[in-house]
Amino acid sequence: MVRFADMASLAFQAVDARSVAGCAAAPQPAPRRADWQSVLADAVRDPAELCRLLGLPASMAAAAEHPASGYPLLVPQTYLARIRHGDPDDPLLAQVLPRAAEQFEVAGYRKDPLGEADAAVGPGLLSKYRGRSLIVTTGACAVHCRFCFRRHFPFPDSPRTAAQWQPALARIASETSIHEVILSGGDPLALPDTQLAQLAARLAEIPHLKRLRIHTRLPVVIPQRVTDELLSWVHSNRLAPIMVVHTNHPAEIDDAVAVALQRIVEAGIPVLNQCVLLRGVNDDAEVLAELCERLADLRVMPYYLHQLDPVAGAAHFAVPEQTGIRLIEQLRARLPGYAVPRYVRETPGGASKMVLA
Ligand SMILES: *Cc1c(COP(=O)(O)O)cnc(C)c1O
Ligand code: SF4
Repeated sequence: MVRFADMASLAFQAVDARSVAGCAAAPQPAPRRADWQSVLADAVRDPAELCRLLGLPASMAAAAEHPASGYPLLVPQTYLARIRHGDPDDPLLAQVLPRAAEQFEVAGYRKDPLGEADAAVGPGLLSKYRGRSLIVTTGACAVHCRFCFRRHFPFPDSPRTAAQWQPALARIASETSIHEVILSGGDPLALPDTQLAQLAARLAEIPHLKRLRIHTRLPVVIPQRVTDELLSWVHSNRLAPIMVVHTNHPAEIDDAVAVALQRIVEAGIPVLNQCVLLRGVNDDAEVLAELCERLADLRVMPYYLHQLDPVAGAAHFAVPEQTGIRLIEQLRARLPGYAVPRYVRETPGGASKMVLA
């Protein structure tokens, strides 16, 4: 099937070729700037292809062919471009390439590590903490992080129509103690802006809501996702916006990501970062300090450093809490206080995330 974007691109090249016909030193047509949906559609899904593109041994691909739990590899080119060629230990590769260790059963590592089934108060709606409700907008993401605590989450088909959002909206409207709605997933920005704008507009009609929070990794994975349309619907909505992005390593912030984050900040939207403490990725004071400083330079405030949730298939990423506490102490000794994230652990049934350091 030829997608619309492909046809547009072909048409563009045809016009361009005609306009330069007959010119001796005809310049190549500039590559059309890919929109985020084409980048996502063209993402690498085949471990063998990923390993070939990155100059990695085929044996690494073989281990990734059959990830446990049907959670396949997904890496868009924009993220792949930041992975070092030929380095099997690259910290970005570690986040996205399935390893044989995913299939080991480890005591304590569960499919629903946070007991979220108990926090579901309606279709796609989680209410765990006072004053805040979380909408699971979609199961889709721009990348499949191997350590994702919702990798086994039973995502319902994401609501697409106003009628399908209705039960969650009615529940929020009936609970006057809720002041903030968190759009989560999956990744809410995997949905088109038209759909998100409609949902946000419905939320803004609920008088007791004050704030709208968006938890997303998309601006970091596919920076083209920060579109004018996105900034425009967030900006024009009555609710005070907060965007929480997810970055785990400074190498994830290339120039395009920096520009995308700056655009969000310059649109007047506060941006926070959450990060997961991961063995072989960022369990190192130097790496975490560089990440926090880079974020602060971009006016993105480090928010949480999460202890890994014990989700089945991710045990090989675990870092002991004592190590995490020591890392935070090291960060405190070298960074301004505002640049040190809170180190937290999620506990099923707790009144808030538990602060470890
Ligand atoms: C983490 C989380 C929140 C947000 O918690 P904050 O401490 O406000 O960032 C809200 N709802 C659920 C279900 C969560 O897991
Ligand atoms: S982007 Fe977030 S929700 Fe999606 S796979 Fe990664 S950690 Fe999970």
